[in-house]
Amino acid sequence: MIVSLDNSKCSGHARCNAVAPEVYTLDDDGYCNINELTVPAGLEQSARDGAANCPERALTIKE
Ligand code: SF4
Repeated sequence: MIVSLDNSKCSGHARCNAVAPEVYTLDDDGYCNINELTVPAGLEQSARDGAANCPERALTIKE
């Protein structure tokens, strides 16, 4: 599973990190700082939950 971030949509709500801090890290300003990340085994549901909680739909999951 791969998750990618559209930087142009990310608005720094940090909800992805609140839901799944083990997948989504933030920069010092509270913006998600992944670009394209291969989700470690076992964290797939966390990745889905974090992406689903992004109000900007900035995170895309590729199975
Ligand atoms: S929840 Fe969405 S908008 Fe907020 S930091 Fe994460 S990716 Fe960016």
